[in-house]
Amino acid sequence: MIDFSVPEETLQVIETVRRFIDSELRPVEQAVDEQEAVPLDLARSIRDKARALGLYAMDMPASVGGGGLSMVDMCLVEEQFGWTSDVLVRRAFGAVPATLMSCSDAQREKYLLPAVAGDIIVAFAMSEASAGSDAAGIKTIAARAGDGYVLNGSKHFISDANVADAFMVTALTDPGKGHKGISLFLVDRDAEGVTVGREQRLMGLHGLSHCELFFNNVRLSPEQRLGQEGDGMALALGTGNRQRLRAVAARAVGMASRALQMSLEYANERKQFGTEIANFQMIQAMLADMAVDIYAARSMVLNAAWDIDQGREPRAKISMVKLFASEMLGRVTDKAIQIFGGMGYCSEMPVERLYRDARVQRILDGTSEIHRVAIARDLLKRGLSI
Ligand SMILES: Cc1cc2nc3c(=O)[nH]c(=O)nc-3n(C[C@H](O)[C@H](O)[C@H](O)COP(=O)(O)OP(=O)(O)OC[C@H]3O[C@@H](n4cnc5c(N)ncnc54)[C@H](O)[C@@H]3O)c2cc1C
Repeated sequence: MIDFSVPEETLQVIETVRRFIDSELRPVEQAVDEQEAVPLDLARSIRDKARALGLYAMDMPASVGGGGLSMVDMCLVEEQFGWTSDVLVRRAFGAVPATLMSCSDAQREKYLLPAVAGDIIVAFAMSEASAGSDAAGIKTIAARAGDGYVLNGSKHFISDANVADAFMVTALTDPGKGHKGISLFLVDRDAEGVTVGREQRLMGLHGLSHCELFFNNVRLSPEQRLGQEGDGMALALGTGNRQRLRAVAARAVGMASRALQMSLEYANERKQFGTEIANFQMIQAMLADMAVDIYAARSMVLNAAWDIDQGREPRAKISMVKLFASEMLGRVTDKAIQIFGGMGYCSEMPVERLYRDARVQRILDGTSEIHRVAIARDLLKRGLSI
């Protein structure tokens, strides 16, 4: 029997998250967007309040201090996250790279447990100016030196770079071996030779920093390597699927739901030609299409999440969900702007921020094109397997 009901305890978590977002985060999101920064005292205060409610790092296993939510439950929570801005979600609820779960005992004490507790921030640094979609084409190199390594190279677009205490960095340890010659390292921000470069100003996601990173002869001990030599790409990509299912696709459902909610309210208020614009069939058609798109994406997210909870790793399916949900979000926020008319194009309206923040979801965590490549490759190899 298929049971789609949501257990009472999950509903309570969702309700607590929803109330927290409404009372603590949404009132400040406009100011954060305009000032393009989250003041330090605000970041600390929302983190501490969320932590006290047990809402920090809900996706991480309970064995390391996280909330231990299942993937279905986490996706339902992520839908709520979509009702406010990405940077406030990160500061309040955390964004711990799941790859940290592969750390050694020593790394667990220094990085994993403090990250899950919200005491430190670890940012993930893979992309380089010449290696984006082709993540294995990196040039950053960790050359053997004695029993350790010397790291040289640079990264860019690193989310949270200006607040991170440490970086999880991909680097070549065996340049002749392609993606199997890449390893992962935990590099402290204050290590000699690490420089956080310029802030890369973006169209959206205001308040969340994205910076270049430079490594100049940074000495690394073998204990700073995460996993075995050559495992870097497998470790990084292994957790990437889950990340894009919840933090991109499920959150896109929440963002789109908020855009639809605002559109419904506006259509019922705004009058033209002596009547509410909600009475015009062309507005109604847009609202209906938005709802259908959201429903389809939500069903896909929860189905793939359920697969994961059953112990499966539905890679092609997750590519489909990420692709559909991020493109759905583009369609829905575009229609929302249209329904708001000129007001939709005004930066004082949250719908304008949603539209800007939505655009990058088709680029992050694998572009739409890369996911189409992955889906087609899987189809040609195995046929349709949904
Ligand atoms: C806001 C933001 C935050 C980010 N945060 C991080 C982070 O924290 N850490 C990190 O490591 N990186 C981060 N990135 C980088 C992100 O992962 C890359 O931008 C993404 O992988 C795409 O790479 P690219 O920008 O170099 O585009 P490119 O790879 O240069 O792609 C350019 C175009 O070519 C297309 N293309 C490329 N290859 C193919 C192909 N084989 N077939 C068809 N089309 C193709 C792409 O789809 C795209 O349309 C972030 C980026 C942004 C914008």
